[in-house]
Amino acid sequence: MGKVMRALGLTGLALLAAACAEQPQDAVGSQVVGQQDVSASYLHDRLMVLDSHLDTPAYFHGGDYVFSDRGSWSEDGTNVDLPRMNEGGLDGGFWVIYTGQGPLTRESYAAARTSALMRQAAIREFAARYADEVELAFRAEDAARIHAAGKKIVYQSIENAYPLGEDIDLMQTLYVGGVRMISPAHFRNNQFADSATDVSPAYDGLSPLGEELVREANRLGMILDGSHAADTTVYDMIALSTTPIILSHSGPRGVYDHPRNVPDELLIALADSGGVIQVNGLGSYLEKLVPSPERAAALAALETEFGGSLYDLSPAQQQAYRAARDVLNAQFPPPRSSFETFMTHLLYTLELVGPDHVGLGADWDGGGGVDGMEDVSQLPKVTARLLEAGYTAEDLEKIWGGNMIRLLQAAEAESRAGLTSPGIPR
Ligand SMILES: [Zn+2]
Repeated sequence: MGKVMRALGLTGLALLAAACAEQPQDAVGSQVVGQQDVSASYLHDRLMVLDSHLDTPAYFHGGDYVFSDRGSWSEDGTNVDLPRMNEGGLDGGFWVIYTGQGPLTRESYAAARTSALMRQAAIREFAARYADEVELAFRAEDAARIHAAGKKIVYQSIENAYPLGEDIDLMQTLYVGGVRMISPAHFRNNQFADSATDVSPAYDGLSPLGEELVREANRLGMILDGSHAADTTVYDMIALSTTPIILSHSGPRGVYDHPRNVPDELLIALADSGGVIQVNGLGSYLEKLVPSPERAAALAALETEFGGSLYDLSPAQQQAYRAARDVLNAQFPPPRSSFETFMTHLLYTLELVGPDHVGLGADWDGGGGVDGMEDVSQLPKVTARLLEAGYTAEDLEKIWGGNMIRLLQAAEAESRAGLTSPGIPR
């Protein structure tokens, strides 16, 4: 960020944005288009741009991933690293401690607990290794300070509370390590809640243990995240939580009828309670993606060869399956959604609940990314399109991170735990 940009206050930006937005469409020539591009990219660079669901920590332990090296979605399937964050003006966000759903047994809980604690350790190691480039964030106010210092902001979140087992107290341990957002469930119902994508409900919302999780999140000062949860669960979370909840990576069912998307009436209830939806960029939740007949046939042949469930295979068979799947994907690429469809979801949601209740959680490195927005280097296009749609610089400031930080402020204000620990500025 240059001195001129630093000196340009938000009021100036707002005027700039308003001027861009008010260009009459029929008067747009190449020169004006050029000015609009420059204005959008200036604004984008100046804003604090956060994403609420960065799955990148899955790469931190093992593999060839190096945060400071530029990767490529087409070559290695990744979406986020330092060079691409710089190119796309992404200033950070919530980095995810994800755990897949397993059986509700003591042994599986123990294994999942270890894995989640290791993932938190990996995030903290990452922050230590790249201390000149990134910084762990613990409080809402940390974001602006870290951004002003020119570093990337590293909040932590938990996707799927399954690794807690039945030990609600573990939330405090994870909180002290930096977790500030938690979602109860993932693809299946678990000990806390009904999932959006399970075959039938177990509790019609939160379980009694799930209600304890909500109360503990409020006590500690964590944002509650209803992504992946069943609609009934989200309604329960809104009713029980004393602070507004987030949907860290979800979409509007009004655009595409999928269980991972949220119906209008629930989005309106979310917004009425002060909550925020961060719009998802995972193709199969944006539209129905139909594989080509050749791909469908190849997939069917693969299934015949290896059987129905990956989990029934030996480690060697799983490796062979993955290798065969990679070959198949190279030969018959899976269908992809597009930037235009992503924008349709984002603009629909903004129209429905307004810019105080919408952000972005594109599921980077967790399946997110579409043709035309393959990775985070493409984010300035979103700013340009929102300006074209008439949203102001103030709107964009909220959409790109302000709303999420407001929710963390609310969670902090509600916190009754009075926790302090070394390294957590109070
Ligand atoms: Zn997810």
